[in-house]
Amino acid sequence: MALREILTYPFPILKKAAEPVKEFGEELEQLVADMAETMYDAPGVGLAAPQIGIPLQLCVIDIMPKDQERELIVLANPKIIEGEGKEIDEEGCLSVLDYSANVPRFTKIKVEAQDIKGNPLNFEAEGFFARVIQHELDHLDGTLFIDRISSLKRTLYKKKVKKMLRAEKEEGEK
Ligand SMILES: [Zn+2]
Repeated sequence: MALREILTYPFPILKKAAEPVKEFGEELEQLVADMAETMYDAPGVGLAAPQIGIPLQLCVIDIMPKDQERELIVLANPKIIEGEGKEIDEEGCLSVLDYSANVPRFTKIKVEAQDIKGNPLNFEAEGFFARVIQHELDHLDGTLFIDRISSLKRTLYKKKVKKMLRAEKEEGEK
């Protein structure tokens, strides 16, 4: 297992739709192990493959509190086939530095996906779990939570990032 670098906005791969997972096997299992390690290390409750530069429809999720037993969920080629209700709550992202915002999401969803072996998965999710799944699936479409907030807030965030990048660059030139 190895820790991978988590790419952050505005890295271009974060804005691209990912390709379906077609080959299941040792290589994919290795990738998932790296993704899980990277997510736990961050720490985060979810990580999608594009966030480490791999353009595959693959994500790992674990919403269990740190002091409890881990429950790693691996979703390959996941799709939300039904969604109901709407809830607004605060979200952040390992790829969106120093920022969080209120994002509307379905409260309850039905998900179709494949597990790490390629077996079909069919399940329902609610509340925070449903929110995390929707957030990770957005990554697979090249969408970040900042794409789901008001354009004014998004513009302010983009300005902040530009400023941070400029400061880093100036620091580097000194
Ligand atoms: Zn994210």
